[in-house]
Amino acid sequence: MPLDATSLNMGTVYLVGAGPGDPDLLTVKAARLLKSADVVVYDRLISHDILDQVPAGTTRIYVGKQEGRHHMNQTEINQLLIALARRHQAVVRLKGGDPFVFGRGSEEALVLARQGIPFEVVPGVTAASGCTAYAGIPLTHRELSRRVMFVTGRCSDAEPPRIDSGVAADEQCTLVIYMGLRQLPAIMERIRAAGRPPDTPVAVIENGSLASQRRCLGRLDTIAEQVRDANVQSPALLVVGRVVDLAPELDWFRPPMEPAAAVPSVLSRAAGA
Ligand code: SAH
Repeated sequence: MPLDATSLNMGTVYLVGAGPGDPDLLTVKAARLLKSADVVVYDRLISHDILDQVPAGTTRIYVGKQEGRHHMNQTEINQLLIALARRHQAVVRLKGGDPFVFGRGSEEALVLARQGIPFEVVPGVTAASGCTAYAGIPLTHRELSRRVMFVTGRCSDAEPPRIDSGVAADEQCTLVIYMGLRQLPAIMERIRAAGRPPDTPVAVIENGSLASQRRCLGRLDTIAEQVRDANVQSPALLVVGRVVDLAPELDWFRPPMEPAAAVPSVLSRAAGA
């Protein structure tokens, strides 16, 4: 019999998307795996409410991951997953949003595949759909947006974020920018320089889908100042495009337990909204 993963009694690593934070947005499969896992490896974007779904007796391992400050680096995380798969039947690697959207889930999957370790990928609600839905912003809307682009705003300090100028200028394209808070002024400038009108609506969603969610609504030429004044913190998602104009009217989300009046969920509105 060949000496493969099965004969070595290797466990399975589940790369599980946890969604943007509200535990009700976990998939049925994710919720089931959280209950049955031997060990759960998670990072910073995982909300307390989601961790509360993990039974008390299950081993939890925090591997950090905060922009510019990693508790464990990616190589160490990869090694950890391999070691855990050799010791446990079911290892859940829990990631914010969807594991295959800016989550380095594919890098971890490649490492597992190359080591012959069985793995499964469990998709999750990515921030682009989860946070916008909870902020009342449709990604597309007839006549306002025909296309959506997910972009990473992450880049080195020396180099401004690269957003294709054709896409940046395309008024029918909703731009959803992940990891863009730190470079927000440079990103807005880049989009303006590409030719989008300065009054293009922009939203910044902080802690999307959580009770602490805040929306900051503004325009390309005002949002940087608004975000600074409101002291918006990570995680935050940037959304650029005319669909943002619908946010005041589609503002449905009322976090449980906190009366709407007590939560300043709208920090500022686009002029005239
Ligand atoms: N895999 C994740 C993205 C990881 S990159 C997903 O599919 O959603 C991390 C970035 O995602 C953050 O910097 C932020 O831009 C965005 N993000 C994730 N969760 C968020 C949340 N609850 N609220 C706002 N932004 C969020």
